[in-house]
Amino acid sequence: MADIQYPISGSCQCGNVRYELLSPPKKVLACHCKECQKLSTSAFSLTAFVSADSVRFEGELLQWNRMAESGNKSYAKFCPRCGNRIYHFNPDQPDELKLKAANLSDTRVLQPQAHIWVSQKQDWFQIPEGVAQFDKQP
Ligand SMILES: [Zn+2]
Ligand SMILES: [Zn+2]
Repeated sequence: MADIQYPISGSCQCGNVRYELLSPPKKVLACHCKECQKLSTSAFSLTAFVSADSVRFEGELLQWNRMAESGNKSYAKFCPRCGNRIYHFNPDQPDELKLKAANLSDTRVLQPQAHIWVSQKQDWFQIPEGVAQFDKQP
């Protein structure tokens, strides 16, 4: 298998929002919480934690805010046309972005190092052996 080449480009479903990931994510998590199930319309969401200066965005993004259960602010950026979620961030920690990176052109980079909120996981999904897991937010 060929090495992963940076930058990796990504785009929303309609192509209105484009971005480039310039360097490898700091970590990748799979989250099984109910919010992420709604967000992904699937069993879990994949999040790549990246430094804000390692991504370049193009195109208009809209924002939606909610409070996480932890009390942290969770701000979400999405495409105004197709609604595809692009990234989340905490405005109190603007240096770190939580990229919803399933729309990258090379998704091999998205292999999770840990699974979180396993307490809300779908029963049919089996976490691979040897991968860290946490009942809630670690
Ligand atoms: Zn779009
Ligand atoms: Zn979650």
